[in-house]
Amino acid sequence: MKNDTWGRVKEQLLESVGRSNYANWIEPLELRKVDNGVAVFSVPTSFMANWVSRNFADTILTHLKAANAPASRVEFKVEPHQSQTVTPVDTAPVAHEPTPVTVQETPAADLPGAPLDPRFTFDNFVVGKPNELAHAAARRVAEGGPVTFNPLFLYGGVGLGKTHLMHAIAHEIRVRDPKLRVLYLSAEQFMYRFVQALRDRQMIDFKQIFRSVDVLMVDDVQFIAGKDSTQEEFFHTFNALVDQNKQIIISADRAPGEIQGLEDRIKSRLQCGLVVDLHPTDYELRLGILQTKAEGYRAQYPDLKFADGVLEFLAHRISTNVRVLEGALMRLFAFASLVGREITLDLTQECLSDILKASERKVTVEEIQRKVSEHYAIRLSDMIGPKRVRSIARPRQVAMYLAKHMTTRSLPEIGRRFGGRDHTTVMHGVRRIEELKATDSQIADDLEMLRRTLEA
Ligand code: ADP
Ligand code: MG
Repeated sequence: MKNDTWGRVKEQLLESVGRSNYANWIEPLELRKVDNGVAVFSVPTSFMANWVSRNFADTILTHLKAANAPASRVEFKVEPHQSQTVTPVDTAPVAHEPTPVTVQETPAADLPGAPLDPRFTFDNFVVGKPNELAHAAARRVAEGGPVTFNPLFLYGGVGLGKTHLMHAIAHEIRVRDPKLRVLYLSAEQFMYRFVQALRDRQMIDFKQIFRSVDVLMVDDVQFIAGKDSTQEEFFHTFNALVDQNKQIIISADRAPGEIQGLEDRIKSRLQCGLVVDLHPTDYELRLGILQTKAEGYRAQYPDLKFADGVLEFLAHRISTNVRVLEGALMRLFAFASLVGREITLDLTQECLSDILKASERKVTVEEIQRKVSEHYAIRLSDMIGPKRVRSIARPRQVAMYLAKHMTTRSLPEIGRRFGGRDHTTVMHGVRRIEELKATDSQIADDLEMLRRTLEA
């Protein structure tokens, strides 16, 4: 590929990513070569390599292909560019969860915020026990009025709705009072802006912008842990806004006190307001979310037939996080419409086998021992202890058999969990149950029953 092809592609990229993204992320790329289908770009810092590959790689590739460049992959190599001096502050790349696709809205004035996802509204947020407190707090803040708790600190595991709630707050505030300056960005973006301001000697502007907002929302604040100068600046921004009685909303993947590498004074500042957590989803919430999303899909694919029980099955089986749940449903509808089949349990299992497998519940040997003891009404201590009477030895063997088949533990590991028994004892027990299973229907029924309760 010639460099003028890249020149043309860049012009198109300018259109598709917008001027500011272009200036920050595309302009500094230098095309080195296209080799074996790989377009190799050099970038000045690893931070940038990371960012560009995460956020713009697909777009760049699409445009390259459209320009008939022989590229099927893009790569970003870090090579300090002559023309740029970068202050080496906190630029370590960090593993990142996939960010949802966002659609650009009209940006608020000239604030350096991130675009808001138009789908992340309160209307689209399904409330259940695990998130009702966080939702109520978010609503309260979005209603405006006197600042009662500052900051609002939302925390919880991946995919539980933190970003969704933050965007919802921002949407709501903008609707209620378009004059308010609402700035939403991730802690990572905050850091990037800060580094950029240092590099360009624009710290005064930086401070002015961040101190002039009415509402500041910083997502995934755990990102700045261990990044000392960014933390320092964040702390000053934070204090300046609190002093002016401006609302601050922060999210993180854990409670303030548990973020390692975060300065104590920041931790205590973050704890000053209202700290609420989003709990892992429960079955009812997952089902509610699935029903809401499925309605949308049914409108989108009016011809598709949808069997009863599918949503319940998914809510039951996929308990990791909402993002995975959503992805599963989207794939299911897309697949069904593609092959023109009714969405049944069979189709679901076929289409989502990988997701279902990945979120299979991990059963522990201890759980097996507990359930089996309950089932045969023996003491857990006897299960592990030395007694050899049949009424205890048989359940013990059943538990060993299940441990062998339902966990990834090796025979010696299982033996150890049964009061330090030898692996040959475990093997013997497993074999014995295998034999019995074929001849004794009571044992076969017990095994089936136990397996089902353990998988539930
Ligand atoms: P987090 O920021 O906590 O990692 P997100 O806010 O990005 O999670 O949520 C992941 C996905 O799950 C998003 O698409 C979001 O819309 C969806 N989601 C999470 N919780 C809910 C909910 N209660 N109702 C509807 N959608 C939800
Ligand atoms: Mg998030």
